[in-house]
Amino acid sequence: MSEIYQGKAIVDRLDISVLNPGEYHLWFRATPNGLGQDQLLPVSVFKAAKEGPRVLVSAGIHGDELNGVLTAQQIMREAGPKIEQGALIVLPMINLSGVLHHTRDFIPSDPDASPVNLNRHFPGKQNGNGAQRFLHAFWNNLLMGNIDYCLDLHTQTRGATYPLYVFADYRIPAALNMARWMQPDVILNDPGDTGVFETVLNEHDIPTITVEVGAGKIHQPELVSRAVEGIKAVLGHFEMMAHSAAETSGSTIEGDTLISVRAETGGMAIPEVELGDYVEKGALICRQFDAFGHPVKEYHAPDSGHVLSVMQDPLREPGTLLVRLIK
Ligand SMILES: [Zn+2]
Repeated sequence: MSEIYQGKAIVDRLDISVLNPGEYHLWFRATPNGLGQDQLLPVSVFKAAKEGPRVLVSAGIHGDELNGVLTAQQIMREAGPKIEQGALIVLPMINLSGVLHHTRDFIPSDPDASPVNLNRHFPGKQNGNGAQRFLHAFWNNLLMGNIDYCLDLHTQTRGATYPLYVFADYRIPAALNMARWMQPDVILNDPGDTGVFETVLNEHDIPTITVEVGAGKIHQPELVSRAVEGIKAVLGHFEMMAHSAAETSGSTIEGDTLISVRAETGGMAIPEVELGDYVEKGALICRQFDAFGHPVKEYHAPDSGHVLSVMQDPLREPGTLLVRLIK
């Protein structure tokens, strides 16, 4: 008999192939925390009677990126009951400790361990530290064998913002298709990075895109509903649900080069540009002020490009992002 928590079954392993068609809301038991209490991840599965693609919508690998969490939950409510073919799996909150601590990182109980950016450690390690063991259980007992495609939801790191922005590895046609079907503001041709969820899933032949929905720790309803519509368009293209494609705005910017302008000294910084602006090489993009409020530094665009990210938190030490451009 399975254990029940808040009326929902706890599972140590998920195998979608043995589920009857229907809607399931489960707790996945990853690893225990330092009190020995189970870390229970919410998992929703919507399985149609007809065979088809199995698509994962995941969020909250970074615990303070709440527009992603809200997008995943809205997809679950709006698209879940309409799945006619294949299966939709939604994991709205992966990094539970980070969500509770208002941080992007996984917070270990081990006094010898620092907070961990989970999105550099996939697919985890069986005998590693707490974060690696958590990911190992997640990867092997929840994901493997259950999914064909993934859309992983994030936001810009707190203190700066993005528009609706998708990372896709252009060498993988299915990933590029998903990115374009979403009709985001910007797509980056991204070859990937070691240990990133998107990259490691792509290496396992599960085409995946990373979707950035604005800024961390705040709710941006307009961006969330655009992300929801974009994901529905992807599910429509996969013929998993009836949905007309998102209207082609024709305004998606695609690029492969990022230019990050970082603070060279400390002080309060005020940007002179907005998301989406096109700036010419040499244009003033940010001004910085010292502790007395006196101008201390002006920053100019090192090259021409569109503004992809702008800082929102004015407190900037040397090396902190001010403005990011895409070419
Ligand atoms: Zn993130």
